[in-house]
Amino acid sequence: MEKGNKTALVCGAGGFIGSHLVKKLKKEGFWVRGVDLKYPEYSSTEADEFIIGDLRDPLLVSKVIDMPFDEVYQLAADMGGAGYIFSGLHDADVMHNSAMCNLNVVYQSSKVSVKKIFYSSSACIYPEYNQTDPNNPKCSESSAYPAAPDSEYGWEKLFSERMYLSYKRNYGLEVRIARFHNIFGPEGAWNNGKEKSPAAICRKVAEKQDGEEIEIWGDGEQTRSFLYIDECLEAVRRFMDSEFAGPINIGSEEIISINDLARMVMSIAGKELTIKHIDGPLGVRGRKSDNDLIMDVLKWAPSLPLKEGMEKTFNWINEQVTNTKK
Ligand code: NAD
Repeated sequence: MEKGNKTALVCGAGGFIGSHLVKKLKKEGFWVRGVDLKYPEYSSTEADEFIIGDLRDPLLVSKVIDMPFDEVYQLAADMGGAGYIFSGLHDADVMHNSAMCNLNVVYQSSKVSVKKIFYSSSACIYPEYNQTDPNNPKCSESSAYPAAPDSEYGWEKLFSERMYLSYKRNYGLEVRIARFHNIFGPEGAWNNGKEKSPAAICRKVAEKQDGEEIEIWGDGEQTRSFLYIDECLEAVRRFMDSEFAGPINIGSEEIISINDLARMVMSIAGKELTIKHIDGPLGVRGRKSDNDLIMDVLKWAPSLPLKEGMEKTFNWINEQVTNTKK
């Protein structure tokens, strides 16, 4: 480690957002330690040190967080797309595994006096009752309570938000809590059962030929907003440099139905496919980020149109599909 470099720890550095974050921190001159159950799947890590380990284990965590890092990023979680989170099949693991990681990481960070810790919460904490109208969902930060997330994943995130805030209140730990709204981009899960709708749609379109059919869960009229990975990380870094603890939304306000997202990908691919609607786990009817607070506090809003982010993502997934066929 060179003297004078700021130090950062990225928990979940083998995952989608974590592996991109490591690259960004390295570009900014940080000395970076990463930790995860696995190495990044689609490119090699740029971390100075990478520890393969399980953050549910307090002993491992005491070895990983053994100095007062300038910045700790806690991104490790047991998560996936709708098929993983909303089927109910993984609820016990999701709650247990993610809560254990958070309990250990926040305790040890406080113990060694880490200077600042970032926690990635989720739009999934927002109450289902505010997200029944696909054209008018409400996801302002202050609308989180009375709490009624529609998944155990969301409940765990809400519990952990409160735990990080409790460490701030009782032990003076500098926390930054963000609620991510559907982050997407290259080098994310695309075919392992943990992929989210943008990647799943790109894969389905990449695999089909003109005139064939792709399947979409539900009637496809459910809406979401999606934020490209580079913009997400820009917001995270600005947020870390601010004085505001959060929780704050990091997402896009460009809302789109899943049917229109599928049509967008077809036009990017230059393919004409038909959509078949089938039963599947769905999540809330409508959701999009509300960026009033982040605009106010950080003077930031995303600028990349969804279509441009989807082009980059489709091109990457198309390559993966082609390589898998070889
Ligand atoms: P990801 O699944 O790609 O990354 C999470 C990483 O955590 C994985 O590499 C996994 O191996 C690791 N991990 C899980 N359990 C672990 C353990 N016990 N010990 C060590 N490592 C462990 O997910 P992501 O999309 O990069 O998301 C990062 C964070 O952001 C997560 O906390 C997620 O809940 C949150 N988030 C993401 C989104 C999104 O759209 N991607 C939206 C909302 C919130």
